[in-house]
Amino acid sequence: MDKFSLNIPDTNKPRVVIIGGGFGGINAVKNLDSDFFQIVLFDKHNYHTFQPLLYQVASGSLQPDAIAGQLRKVFKNKKDFYFRMLEVKSVDTEANIISTVSGDLRYDYLIIANGTKSNFFGNEQVQKFSLPLKTVPDALDIRTSLMQLFESANLVNHDESLLQKMLTVVIVGGGPTGVETAGAVAELRKYVLPKDYPQIDFSKMQIYVLEGMEKLLPTMSPKAGASAYYNLSKMGVIIKLKSMVENYNGNTVTLKGGEEIGALTVIWSAGVTGILLEGLKKEWSEKGRLLVNENCKIIGSKNIFAIGDMALMKSEKYPKGHPGVAQPAIQMGKYIGKNLKALHENKSVKPFSYFDKGNLATIGRGKAVADLPGNIHTTGRIAWWIWLFVHISFLISFRNKILVFANWLWNYFTFDKGNRFIMRPFAFKNDKSISADELLQDAGL
Ligand SMILES: Cc1cc2nc3c(=O)[nH]c(=O)nc-3n(C[C@H](O)[C@H](O)[C@H](O)COP(=O)(O)OP(=O)(O)OC[C@H]3O[C@@H](n4cnc5c(N)ncnc54)[C@H](O)[C@@H]3O)c2cc1C
Repeated sequence: MDKFSLNIPDTNKPRVVIIGGGFGGINAVKNLDSDFFQIVLFDKHNYHTFQPLLYQVASGSLQPDAIAGQLRKVFKNKKDFYFRMLEVKSVDTEANIISTVSGDLRYDYLIIANGTKSNFFGNEQVQKFSLPLKTVPDALDIRTSLMQLFESANLVNHDESLLQKMLTVVIVGGGPTGVETAGAVAELRKYVLPKDYPQIDFSKMQIYVLEGMEKLLPTMSPKAGASAYYNLSKMGVIIKLKSMVENYNGNTVTLKGGEEIGALTVIWSAGVTGILLEGLKKEWSEKGRLLVNENCKIIGSKNIFAIGDMALMKSEKYPKGHPGVAQPAIQMGKYIGKNLKALHENKSVKPFSYFDKGNLATIGRGKAVADLPGNIHTTGRIAWWIWLFVHISFLISFRNKILVFANWLWNYFTFDKGNRFIMRPFAFKNDKSISADELLQDAGL
């Protein structure tokens, strides 16, 4: 029946379908035995995204392909492996079939590794007007939007309030992404933009970080949060703790309590939520994640596994599941890849055990924070070197490592960020976008 479905040959081997070529998915594929299984990977992009460095694309430090790894190339030597650039739309868990717009495919085992999406907590206005940072296109939108605004700001003659809104960047969420983005934008303001736009007074540019909790980096140690606060403040970033965004209409951010901040750029890094595929049973999920047992198998299912951000594996040590970072995804991917054959043969398999390698966040040149195994917390230049080394070593290909390293060397020695191109326009979603008319009016023409 499924011969050459999606142009994938029929097989006598058990077929493993993996949804998502992120950290979990690629490590599962790498470790699956293709003498025993036929392996099919689906992703809506033809590349793997190294999400920890998205903010550097958004702020012009890196070109997008430096953090994207071509999935076909990664697995060019894998036998009986098929990649299809398709979004999986739904799963029929009774018939063991996944569906895409181009056709369906039967599976013997399904590994769900499709990660998360930005969580706007149901606020449609905020979702409409703010800029998420989850994918390479998102990062390019932020970069383009910022650069277009600086180009436009350079034309403003009289309207001080318009200029102020153009020069205000609000970052919502004081987790690692928010902190790293704020540091990168503050460095743009200090080292790069005044040279590009000598007619603009960048002392007027304001960068805000809004965080709902009482400290920055809430998932890291108090020392890390305090260091991020101290360093960002020193860099001129305005940090508002215990501040929740109530609304954003494209021009003004309104905080709970009524305070308003005029800004044409709001970067949303306040959280993510799982992507639950249609067809998965309701009772299999909790808070957007799929409940799995100690073998990463969805509780209640016979042949469907979930790994990475999508998996909620509750244990004594992690009663709320593992943190939504790359390491659990990598380790779960490796685990299921190595153990699926034994599980298929009903052999006993050691339960998954997470090794916490710690948490890192960078703030700027020579400034980072690191929570390391053994309760070691370090900040400053040592943490920054650890951050550099870890990020280079986890990039997916040698080409990515070279590109990132070369860009960083360039940025470090020239105090420049060499990727500030506006390659294709970004259409502002604001009802009151900065129109040519408005600028001409301001210029008195
Ligand atoms: C901006 C940002 C910064 C981060 N920084 C860090 C950091 O510094 N350190 C850290 O450890 N973690 C960081 N994280 C978290 C880390 O990236 C995630 O925890 C990790 O990527 C989860 O891996 P995953 O395999 O579960 O999902 P992902 O890596 O998100 O991969 C999911 C894949 O599934 C694909 N996909 C989704 N839906 C479908 C579908 N229906 N059909 C086909 N394909 C689909 C997507 O295209 C994607 O390639 C960051 C995340 C973000 C967004």
